[in-house]
Amino acid sequence: MHRYKCASCGHIFSEDIWAEKCPKCRSRILIHIEGQPKKSGTCSCKGGNCSSCAGKCR
Ligand SMILES: [Zn+2]
Repeated sequence: MHRYKCASCGHIFSEDIWAEKCPKCRSRILIHIEGQPKKSGTCSCKGGNCSSCAGKCR
């Protein structure tokens, strides 16, 4: 389970899978609040300040 907050509209939602879009406004800028970080190697930012992993995918 992952919990996200949309950076565009502020909508907070939960997903079993890794979410890529806000279900409300379809923004791709999501802040990951809760849940396991994405496994390393699957995110292209490599620990940078990206919106999908919040810099946690080292
Ligand atoms: Zn949104």
